[in-house]
Amino acid sequence: MEERQAKRTTLFQKDINTLKGVGEKRAVLFRKLGAPTVGDLLRLYPRAYEDWSHPLAIDSTALNEIAVVRATVTRTPTEHRIKGGRLLYRVIVTDGVSDMTLTFFNNRYIPNLLKAGEEYLFRGKVTGTLLRREMTAPEFLPEAKNLQIVPIYPATQGLTSRVISNAVQEALKLLPESVNDPLPLELREKYELCHLGFALEHVHFPQSEEELATARYRLIFEEFLVLQLGLMRIKQGRKTGNPHPVPNAFPEEFARLLPFSLTNAQRRTITEAVQDMAGESPMNRLVQGDVGSGKTAVAAALCWTVIRSGMQAALMAPTEILAAQHFASLSDLLAPAGVRCALLTGSVKGTERKKLFAALENGEIDLIIGTHALLGDKVQFRDLGLVVTDEQHRFGVNQRSALAKKGASPHLLVMSATPIPRTLALMVYGDLDISVLDELPPGRQKINTYLIDPPKRERAFGFVKKHLDEGRQGYLICPLIDEDESGMMSVTQYAEVVQRSFPGCTVGVLHGKMKAVEKEQVMDAFSKGETQLLVSTTVVEVGVDVPNAVIMLIENAERYGLSQLHQLRGRIGRGQYQSSCILITDIRNEESLKRLLMFRDTSDGFKIAEADLRLRGPGDFFGQRQHGLPLLKIADLSTDMRVLHQAQQCARELFSQDIFRGGTLETNEYRGLRSEIARLFARSGSDGVVL
Ligand code: ADP
Ligand code: MG
Repeated sequence: MEERQAKRTTLFQKDINTLKGVGEKRAVLFRKLGAPTVGDLLRLYPRAYEDWSHPLAIDSTALNEIAVVRATVTRTPTEHRIKGGRLLYRVIVTDGVSDMTLTFFNNRYIPNLLKAGEEYLFRGKVTGTLLRREMTAPEFLPEAKNLQIVPIYPATQGLTSRVISNAVQEALKLLPESVNDPLPLELREKYELCHLGFALEHVHFPQSEEELATARYRLIFEEFLVLQLGLMRIKQGRKTGNPHPVPNAFPEEFARLLPFSLTNAQRRTITEAVQDMAGESPMNRLVQGDVGSGKTAVAAALCWTVIRSGMQAALMAPTEILAAQHFASLSDLLAPAGVRCALLTGSVKGTERKKLFAALENGEIDLIIGTHALLGDKVQFRDLGLVVTDEQHRFGVNQRSALAKKGASPHLLVMSATPIPRTLALMVYGDLDISVLDELPPGRQKINTYLIDPPKRERAFGFVKKHLDEGRQGYLICPLIDEDESGMMSVTQYAEVVQRSFPGCTVGVLHGKMKAVEKEQVMDAFSKGETQLLVSTTVVEVGVDVPNAVIMLIENAERYGLSQLHQLRGRIGRGQYQSSCILITDIRNEESLKRLLMFRDTSDGFKIAEADLRLRGPGDFFGQRQHGLPLLKIADLSTDMRVLHQAQQCARELFSQDIFRGGTLETNEYRGLRSEIARLFARSGSDGVVL
């Protein structure tokens, strides 16, 4: 046991440059790819596989499609010099019935690699004519190699998939026969998981679909399990003393400051959070609430609570606009009750900034609201008791923990407007307690949603115009920044069309490629009512509150996830006016239409999120955004839900047993799993601090 453990560790200590075929130059590239050691390389899984197992006769290949052909090289390839000094090689191959011409450019190794009289598998797009098929620069393998399924690696400049594949083959040779499995036999049997050795070998070089599925299942399970246990352990580990206790009492005094009465969901959430803060260890709570559910009031209640206990609170928002908005509404509310509020963004400069820092450090400011400027070195607190992050998915984990480090274990409140189904929330926020604001304040106008096809755009524009004439504002959303091959318009082109269709109206344009200051200017003009129409990509989706904007038109609606559409739609219906959302699509696909109709008829963000998860997978919840989790190497939250459920169950069982005590997996059997957890969290740089 001990010895095996040692061997296993050494693979992760063995530098990648010790592999045959990996010199220092390649080693640098491998390190960049995330494989600094042989062990890491084995865990660099293929991103796709090519099926070479069904070679076709040349005559049966279809033109313009990728095919695999088994054929013999008829004679030594010929070399031609063409324009620009490039070298061209022509190779004639035959399958005994027909010939095919292959062309390669600038690959002087071709004559060595393709030998006359030998048989190869060629894979590439078939071109030419039905009488004379051709392939240009096909991939090829010696027939003798008999590879069925070829792994495709995330290649990088200078490091082809082939080179990686060869290195992996070398690495597998070093894998000891009896490689120690971090998942003990007992677990593997219970969850029907193959051994690590088998999994590693077959995830890279499967001989069949079944083998691949078996290998992947196990690796995905392991990855989810490790992540889940890691998060649970972090949660457990935080339970150590509460340096900032508050009285366990509902802040009624705060509630009386509000111009409205709190909803039951708000009261419940505040109660849960106050209980946390009065408890044995610092609060770590996520508040999930649909757009408009009143998260800000919850945050304010908790800030009030810690401030009343003599501590300071900080609220971090992802953009200057949002920060300014929060500052305006919170200081209006709290300043009359004696709470000293301040706003810190990149725009606060010079002596003003210095004064603010000093006041914060002296405790002359109770509540600071700001952007990531709050993370600056100079920002020091006298006694930071609570950190709130709004729209948390916009912040990386390191940013959030940086703010928390400015105090001695302050309470943490994370607010998210992206409703996430429960299973997924457990996965992503496994280390947090969760409150759900599942109720909207009363008297909200329902947003009318319409689904139309492009010929009705003109009429829809007329409808928008009518609202503008009444003094309201509107959003026009289009999906792309650049013109793309599908002929869709860029935002700027679209804005020109809009300007022509709305002569005399003021139009602002917003997209993700603009500089932050430009974006803020455009948003600012819109929220002040200086522009009537805002043409935008989805960058407008987060948190912005312009109650006078009552109409939204979304082009190519089929391109968005439902949750994203929901976020977009949440920008309207925020004031006293009846609001309308018009989705335009020319999609005819029944499934897609069904999705959009479901969206049209539903206003509940959680229902929409569940449907989205079912229909498109969770990719949409996170997309490209940072969600602060360690990077998963093989598991894909969008396709592997079933495995996720299994792994969650397993994690809970392990956790409930005594095996998992005091933040460590104590028994020898679980030592491997423990080091996997350490490795996963070390890799993410999150250092065990996932907020
Ligand atoms: P979100 O959860 O999207 O951040 P906000 O906190 O911005 O929502 O609240 C949306 C609007 O609803 C604000 O104008 C806020 O003042 C108002 N609001 C919040 N709670 C209540 C309530 N209990 N009753 C009436 N209005 C409320
Ligand atoms: Mg909000």
